[in-house]
Amino acid sequence: MSKKLMADLRGKLEELKEEGLYKKERIIESEQGPEIEVSGGKKVLNFCANNYLGLSSHPEVLKAAKEMIDHRGYGLSSVRFICGTQDIHRDLEKRMSDFLGTDDTILYAACFDANGGVFDPFLDRECAIIADQLNHASIIDGVRLCKAKRFIYSHCNMGKGEHEFDGKTLPGLEEVLSSPEAREAKYRMICTDGVFSMNGDMAPINDIVDLADRYDAIVMVDDAHATGFVGETGRGTPEYFGVHGEVDLVTTTFGKALGGASGGCTTGKQELIDWLRQASRPYLFSNTLAPSVVGGTLKVLDLLSKTTDLRDRVEKNQKYFRRRMAEEGFEILEGDHPIVPIMFGKYPNDAALAQQFADDLLKEGIYVIGFFYPVVARGQSRIRVQLSAAHTMEHIDKAIEAFVKVGKKHGIL
Ligand SMILES: *Cc1c(COP(=O)(O)O)cnc(C)c1O
Repeated sequence: MSKKLMADLRGKLEELKEEGLYKKERIIESEQGPEIEVSGGKKVLNFCANNYLGLSSHPEVLKAAKEMIDHRGYGLSSVRFICGTQDIHRDLEKRMSDFLGTDDTILYAACFDANGGVFDPFLDRECAIIADQLNHASIIDGVRLCKAKRFIYSHCNMGKGEHEFDGKTLPGLEEVLSSPEAREAKYRMICTDGVFSMNGDMAPINDIVDLADRYDAIVMVDDAHATGFVGETGRGTPEYFGVHGEVDLVTTTFGKALGGASGGCTTGKQELIDWLRQASRPYLFSNTLAPSVVGGTLKVLDLLSKTTDLRDRVEKNQKYFRRRMAEEGFEILEGDHPIVPIMFGKYPNDAALAQQFADDLLKEGIYVIGFFYPVVARGQSRIRVQLSAAHTMEHIDKAIEAFVKVGKKHGIL
């Protein structure tokens, strides 16, 4: 054991605590839902889960997961290509492909793994990866695992020339695509989040697909915060932007709207998925998705294919909350997504304020989280509220009331 490492870590942990950057985890003592019990038995309304459709503890999903344990066991004790593929894994892959309008789908233990295994199989050092500046950590890590040249474009900016966003000046997407380095690359892959989790804004997928056609690039979209509820029938950001089924590669998670357990997938063109099965390391060298998770997710797809009730409800909730909070005088980042960031940047000591505000809201029975530098840019501190189809109007009104009360206490309304 390295005494120096242990001492250094103790020092660094202390430093985090002093700077107020140490991540503490609150303990929940109930199932996930709009109302949860935090330790000590206190009941609070949960406005910070990715449980967009309220399916995390849906009775039919639980039943399907339990039944699948009876029919196909607890686990496969194998990777897929040795003895870990059951009929249900192929079923889920087919059902996801149908749902998202693609040729085929490959399952992973998590969307983090899908992103970790989606670049290196296609791209070597003669290729180019072109990434949005705000991409999710798992895309960034996936890109790091491959040797292609990296280009970063200004957040959601499709243009030529240089642009400023969050204090950084970067080229727009077309500026990168038209540069000699990108044009000379063997293949070009554009990668982006469909929805950016800190802002609740969306990448213009239709424009990205157009640019990719013009400059002969592959498009990869991570739709973790969209699959199941964004777009008219919940097919995600490609549907929202009118290009359903036209994105080459979509990665997504079963750990958010689609039941919230775990697991993820990559879906897209046949040749691409076939090649991932041969070459994607997190697929080849990691255990098969548990049958219970497959059973639960299949049930979720059943529910979502019958009716759009749940995605309609979360849309209604989101629009109502955004409108009412703006009327009350809060500054919110504009958008059309159940991620609603309440911004504190214009007040002095915005980081401390966002944190204190969230603590005060918890005392009022509303569970939300404050985000500040380095998770978001300096001067951009916020409380991120996430709406769910499981929230009732009473829940939402109670949250707005608490925001107003705490806002008055801090003198910002
Ligand atoms: C949550 C998230 C992931 C990770 O999904 P897991 O299935 O939990 O690993 C990946 N990408 C984005 C954009 C996410 O928001």
